[in-house]
Amino acid sequence: MPKETMIEKYAALAVNIGANVQKNQPVVIRGTTETKALIRALSKQAYEAGAKKVHVQWSDDYVSRQGLEYQSIETLEDVPEWVIKQTEHFIEEGACFISVTSPIPGLNKGIDPEKMQKASLARMKKLGFFQTHMMGNKAQWTIVGAPNAVWAKKVFPTKEKEAAVEALWDAIFKACRVTETNDPVAAWQEHNETLSKHNTILNDYQFDKLHFKNTLGTDITIKLVENHVWAGGNEHTTQGTEFNPNIPTEETFTMPHKTGTNGKVVATKPLNYQGNLIEDFWLEFKDGEVIDYDAKSEKDTLKNLLEFDEGSRYLGEIALISHDSPISNSGILFFNTLFDENASCHMALGRAYPMNVKGGTSMDEDALKKLGYNHSMAHSDFMFGSADLQVTGITKTGEEVVIFKDGNFVI
Ligand code: ZN
Ligand code: ZN
Repeated sequence: MPKETMIEKYAALAVNIGANVQKNQPVVIRGTTETKALIRALSKQAYEAGAKKVHVQWSDDYVSRQGLEYQSIETLEDVPEWVIKQTEHFIEEGACFISVTSPIPGLNKGIDPEKMQKASLARMKKLGFFQTHMMGNKAQWTIVGAPNAVWAKKVFPTKEKEAAVEALWDAIFKACRVTETNDPVAAWQEHNETLSKHNTILNDYQFDKLHFKNTLGTDITIKLVENHVWAGGNEHTTQGTEFNPNIPTEETFTMPHKTGTNGKVVATKPLNYQGNLIEDFWLEFKDGEVIDYDAKSEKDTLKNLLEFDEGSRYLGEIALISHDSPISNSGILFFNTLFDENASCHMALGRAYPMNVKGGTSMDEDALKKLGYNHSMAHSDFMFGSADLQVTGITKTGEEVVIFKDGNFVI
């Protein structure tokens, strides 16, 4: 099957299962000039699904890098009023959002980390209302990936540029359950059902704590918030429209209590933050806060993440994924969280998702904080799952239930 046809199938999946574009709904597509082919296909599929209007917000990572290099901190911190107005307009007209991620590894090497930090902090402060809108599921949104040559060469270093890009497309299609012969939309409906079964079982247990242990040195206990909700697969907007925020997704995740994590976690995959790869790192927590850490490479980048704001030293998400998953079985390290996070159990430093607590999407921030919700402008997932990971759930009465044995779900 020609690649164009596969891209069309993939775009149809992103539009109909990912964002679930509704008749007459405006659609905002965000992506870089590296991902033109997919963006064109997404736009076409969105119109086919009945979109009223498709807005594409293009960016170019090389031009953005030049901005970081040449502009002053003051200029970078200045978020123009029209950018805010435009975002407000999209929210007011009830748009849904499709983001195409295609990070260029190492692109920001050599840029002053403090400059990047200040620029993104200023942007997040001014556009914080948009993040609240998205993370509160006030509209459908989805993230999908598309290759660029630098990324593809990083994943497949021994292949020539074009072959590497082809191989990365193939790996993305497989990870997203898009094959030549199947109907990806139907495959995803079935996949969503499996994920929802795990959510139901865990929601019924309402564990007080989870304990994680493996031979790499992970030995950590995570307290969950009262009335936590395990989610994963499809979600619903506050108006009740189904959507899949991430394609692919294999995870079942919930909200840790901000001050209830104790012990050490050892990462099993690198974490890409601000274009830099933090490798071989561990974190130690006491009462929810990271009190010690180390990394074999990019320790300064890890420090930046931890010092980003008050909440970036606390957890906002804990996610369970069987080691026996399509992405982990492929053995491919994507160097991209959207894919790699679905290979392995992970946790996130930073902001929690309000939907992970009963009634959370209609609570204000103060009410959520009282329940143990962590607020931050950062949200960074890192992997710690392994083939020998044991996960035990501890109920409020102290009863222990084995959830994972040797890396996989057993409940
Ligand atoms: Zn996650
Ligand atoms: Zn996450």
